[in-house]
Amino acid sequence: MKIPQSQTTASRRLPGDSAMTTTEKSFDIESKNFEPAYMSLFRSGELYRRSREGLKLLKNCKVCPRDCEVDRLANETAVCKSGRYAIASSHFPHFGEEDCLRGWNGSGTIFFSMCNLKCVFCQNFDISQDGEGFEVGPERLAQMMLELQDRGCHNINFVTPEHVVPQILEALPLAVQLGLRLPLVYNTGAYDSLDSIDLMDGVVDIYMPDFKYWDPELSQKYLKAGDYPEAARRVVKRMQAQVGDLAFDERGLARRGLLVRHLVMPGQVEGSRNIFRFLANEISPDVFINIMSQYRPAGKVSAAKYPEINRRPSAEEMEQARRMAREEGLRRGSLRGQ
Ligand code: SF4
Repeated sequence: MKIPQSQTTASRRLPGDSAMTTTEKSFDIESKNFEPAYMSLFRSGELYRRSREGLKLLKNCKVCPRDCEVDRLANETAVCKSGRYAIASSHFPHFGEEDCLRGWNGSGTIFFSMCNLKCVFCQNFDISQDGEGFEVGPERLAQMMLELQDRGCHNINFVTPEHVVPQILEALPLAVQLGLRLPLVYNTGAYDSLDSIDLMDGVVDIYMPDFKYWDPELSQKYLKAGDYPEAARRVVKRMQAQVGDLAFDERGLARRGLLVRHLVMPGQVEGSRNIFRFLANEISPDVFINIMSQYRPAGKVSAAKYPEINRRPSAEEMEQARRMAREEGLRRGSLRGQ
């Protein structure tokens, strides 16, 4: 099994760690009282209705903001090169995620192949663009979730789910019927449609968008999506409205809420300030932010192509980004150096 490189692998911090600010609450939900959000929708039958609604979106695909309008039910494909069924590259307990997700038994990640973004710096081109992986129908996808639960993982972490929301919803009732009881993490590049996020209302426990760029021109240049900032702002607002600030149980595991990632890019720290300002003013000053230093040149980036991002962010740039986040009023997350 190939383990994807994790450009967005998180720094390892639990809520009580010294790099976290002291204003954080240490726990909000008792683990014995926790029930994943989807259980109530499952009992009422709404989860099955969502599953049917999701599949309708595939007919004239508007699952993500690309609005390709191809018939994926008939296996037509467009930008994300995915048809009727999802393609998965791997599933395993992941120990590189934030401590509040990986805990001690790992976060149960399911890596989907293909991506609706075309980041020139992607570390997993073979998976995100070339589609390395295998097609999984709803039964197999449900089984994968249960295998991760059986291995003791603390959550099911869907990585790059933007283009396969209907397929996830199709598999979920089967998984719940078979005994799935773990919280769901929606681990996205934030280029999602509101339709998708609305379908996930009451289904997802933890939204984890990586808000990458604020500037439309840079988004077009590096992600090949000029409308990315607008789309990301829209869905992050909707995610917060659904799940609120990140809440933890008494063991430090994240149980429900919004966890925003931001990958600091070399030479482009000024854009980070706008994202932090938006989060503090329009989402919540208590939004939980992970400011990540893991960027390194990969994918199409080289000295000849995209030379301006052909290096890692410096320690000074990282400190600058963290300071900006504090100055803009954010108070929870990786706001100080490690
Ligand atoms: S999910 Fe894929 S086919 Fe559908 S709109 Fe997005 S990129 Fe296009």
